[in-house]
Amino acid sequence: MTHQPRFLPLSGNEGDKLGIRQFDIILVTGDAYVDHPSFGTALIGRVLWDAGFTVGIIAQPDWTTSADFTELGKPRLFFGISSGNVDSMVNNFTPNLKRRSDDVYSPAGIPKRPDRATIVYTNRVHELFPETPIVLGGIEASLRRFAHYDYWQDRVRQAILADAPADLLVFGMGEKQVVEIARRLATGETVALLRDVRGTAWRMEVEEWRSKRPEGIIELPGFTEVAQDKTSYARAFAMHYREQDPVRGRTIAQPHPKTVVVQNPPALPLSTEELDHIYDLPFSRRAHPSYTQRVPALETVQFSVTSHRGCFGACSFCALTHHQGRIIQSRSSASIIREVTRMTRMPEFKGIVQDVGGPTANMYCLSCDLWEKYGACRDKHCSPSCKNLDTSHRHQGELLKKLREIPGVKKVFIGSGIRYDLALADDSGYLEMICDHHVSGHLKVAPEHVIKNVTKAMNKPDREVFDQFRERFETLQKGKKKRQYLLPYFMSGHPGCSINDMVELAVYIRDHQLYTEQVQDFTPTPMSVSTCMYYTGLNPFTLEPVHLPKGKEKKIQRALMQYRDPDNRRLVIEGLTAAGRTDLIGNGRQFLVTAIDRGTYKYALKYSSTKK
Ligand code: SF4
Repeated sequence: MTHQPRFLPLSGNEGDKLGIRQFDIILVTGDAYVDHPSFGTALIGRVLWDAGFTVGIIAQPDWTTSADFTELGKPRLFFGISSGNVDSMVNNFTPNLKRRSDDVYSPAGIPKRPDRATIVYTNRVHELFPETPIVLGGIEASLRRFAHYDYWQDRVRQAILADAPADLLVFGMGEKQVVEIARRLATGETVALLRDVRGTAWRMEVEEWRSKRPEGIIELPGFTEVAQDKTSYARAFAMHYREQDPVRGRTIAQPHPKTVVVQNPPALPLSTEELDHIYDLPFSRRAHPSYTQRVPALETVQFSVTSHRGCFGACSFCALTHHQGRIIQSRSSASIIREVTRMTRMPEFKGIVQDVGGPTANMYCLSCDLWEKYGACRDKHCSPSCKNLDTSHRHQGELLKKLREIPGVKKVFIGSGIRYDLALADDSGYLEMICDHHVSGHLKVAPEHVIKNVTKAMNKPDREVFDQFRERFETLQKGKKKRQYLLPYFMSGHPGCSINDMVELAVYIRDHQLYTEQVQDFTPTPMSVSTCMYYTGLNPFTLEPVHLPKGKEKKIQRALMQYRDPDNRRLVIEGLTAAGRTDLIGNGRQFLVTAIDRGTYKYALKYSSTKK
């Protein structure tokens, strides 16, 4: 392992102290620099350093002037640009399109990230260093790599490589790609020749595409077509969705008016040894010392551990399939134990491991016999009913037990959500164990809905599976000194969900005492299946029409989930009336809401009759 500095340099002075006259690579990010493996820039920076390259970081630059961009000089190999850990539009706006007043990835939560940060930073860097290669990465670039619906502008935007003057785009988890790019540029290859790096997208001139189009590339409907025709958009989405598997995915291209964006097959999954090596790098787990104020996002993850990557759940509203993929890549228990042991030596560590997990906590070490040779099935969803999926949680159980026994560790929590259909399919006593040792007061689960047509649109398990899990969880509470509770996440406003469906959900929540203040209203973030449905009104895989709750209906749906909130009363009454369920309006526990007054009730009835 190459010797690494305590923190990667954020300034020219810090570079001077390390004897660096010119950085090999400079990473620009919309986040504060927090030296923790769950912050993408720290992860990529440490990996590049480990591969023998010097790396400087420009964190949260003031994009209105050039000073911050020139602070570290010109890199020898390339600039790597990212909006940060999240898409800048998701970060800067609420689901209701109101600008947020805070940013958890910024010191003291003060927003410093421009809208469409990747494009803004890239324009600035290109203007100042026109000859230096620019490589995009991070969630924003990754999930905007094809023409995509943009909720904030309510239109289809071009692939980000058609909008930003960059040379390459790294998608997915980028460690392998950035190291290969750096090594090849260092040996004298030009960036224009780097057309074969897995896990990257690049641009081809339209003329070249027309005259010398390489064989074997799948062509998606182009930007102009998908921007004008929703069925083409849905078809294009299904086509690129199916090619996101690292083993069987093929190269795909999407023509744009001034360029053609080509996506190579995704990077191959990291082996356990490769993952272990990355997480053994000397992250300080602290924000850079130049910050005088805390970075809120660090607090929730400082003592959390990533045990694996990938998620085969493929929930429609989550774009993880397009980013980390469905194949689970797990670390060894020895590596995770080493990481937790290092944490115990930090004075700030109070004995609590906040989380051990990945996108879904209980997929650690789960695997399918086919993944290595054939990849994840093209047209089939992975679920416990598939005989090829090993659903035993024994490795997770063994890992958690070992972590509990590390001197200095008092508690190991599971903070990430667990997939309850998998927990039910386990044969190793996982649920009993986590209830005994790893749940504080609440266990997070995400049924999202209970009505069949909605769970189907969301690609979530049916209500019966959740009922079974709930009952099993309740059984485990018997005899416990301190009762635990399920914290279920439900979602309103998802494509395919009607007001009637939401009323049924509200009744279910009431009947099973699952009311919570934490609700999710569907937000069409880039590149999820649900966003494609939201924009096109079609299921991209079947092209069947899907009901779209928008405007007032979406507000009513959200209100129905929080039917106890007095501010929602009018909307709840409207919803109940529209669904023909005025029997749920009244005084008493069996009702969802009380009538506000006679006038409101009359209004609700009138609304009901106009709907019919
Ligand atoms: S065989 Fe089953 S578990 Fe394996 S990839 Fe296909 S659907 Fe998923």
